[in-house]
Amino acid sequence: MENKAITKIGVLTSGGDAPGMNAAIRAVVRAGFYYNLEMYGIYRGYEGMIQNEIKKLESKNIAHILERGGTFLKSARSAEFRTEEGRQKAYDNLKKHGIDALVVIGGDGSLTGAHLFFKEFGIPAIGIPGTIDNDLAGTDHTIGFDTACNTAIEAIDKIRDTATSHDRLFFVEVMGRDAGFIAINAGIGSAAAATLIPEKKMPIERLVERLKARTKAMKTSNIVIVAEGGKSGGAAEIAEKIKKQLPYYDIKVTILGHLQRGGAPSSYDRVLASKLGVSAVEGLLHGKHDVMAGIINNKIVFTPISKAILGDKEVDEDDFRIAKILST
Ligand code: ATP
Repeated sequence: MENKAITKIGVLTSGGDAPGMNAAIRAVVRAGFYYNLEMYGIYRGYEGMIQNEIKKLESKNIAHILERGGTFLKSARSAEFRTEEGRQKAYDNLKKHGIDALVVIGGDGSLTGAHLFFKEFGIPAIGIPGTIDNDLAGTDHTIGFDTACNTAIEAIDKIRDTATSHDRLFFVEVMGRDAGFIAINAGIGSAAAATLIPEKKMPIERLVERLKARTKAMKTSNIVIVAEGGKSGGAAEIAEKIKKQLPYYDIKVTILGHLQRGGAPSSYDRVLASKLGVSAVEGLLHGKHDVMAGIINNKIVFTPISKAILGDKEVDEDDFRIAKILST
């Protein structure tokens, strides 16, 4: 099954970190060793590729990382990789080490970089969706999404204790600049009064009506989840807009922020990352390139990166409807 041309694979993590990236790196490296390949860690994403921060990995480098949050290879955003000169430097460094294939773990930006790099230099690259945002097509879930949802829900449960004790109205902002996947899941999983996501506009008047109706129904706590990229603004902005219309409420805002990126990956993310890591290496050995490994309906699938990054993955209408039904 092995394609003799590939003997040395470089692996990197890029863009925002996500819980489960370490598990993915481990699976890539372990699979590489299983197929008798040399494996190289490229530190700090594309920036490290440009700065030649590349090291041959041994088994000990990946011991006990499966359960750790973050990424031991570190991640970075590289402005220089967006330039032709930067990518040329990166290519020259790969050649110095004899690296003949890449596995890129990251979000849509990182995969866009991999796609471009493959088109320019022909180095076979396979992407692994590593982002808490879940905004890549070609996979039901991205690595880190499940853990981020668990973290958000756990935090919201705690907020609810104080919301209930004081009859407070809380606006909780979760991550998701362009995608409401974390918000809609956190909304359903934490019994939110409403969920505001970037994909759909909820007029402020409708939100006020819903909250008034809940007051009448004697609901003892109200938590509104707001995705950071919401069409009506962030949590603080919405709270400000609404406060005059609900004067009897003590309104508070909590921004969960970067805590959603941290922590040990959930079992779901560990398993997903492990399956995708092995599949990426096997995909390369089968001659696949310029594709992203994903899982759809429990089956490994390879989707052209150009399709995965289109940004057309949407929050399921059913999820949106269910969140609405459960919040009234
Ligand atoms: P997240 O979803 O967590 O934001 P991401 O992978 O989308 O992760 P980005 O900052 O968009 O994060 O991209 C990571 C890196 O990928 C960039 O810093 C840049 O080096 C590279 N990259 C992104 N877009 C391009 C592009 N169009 N051309 C070349 N490189 C790119």
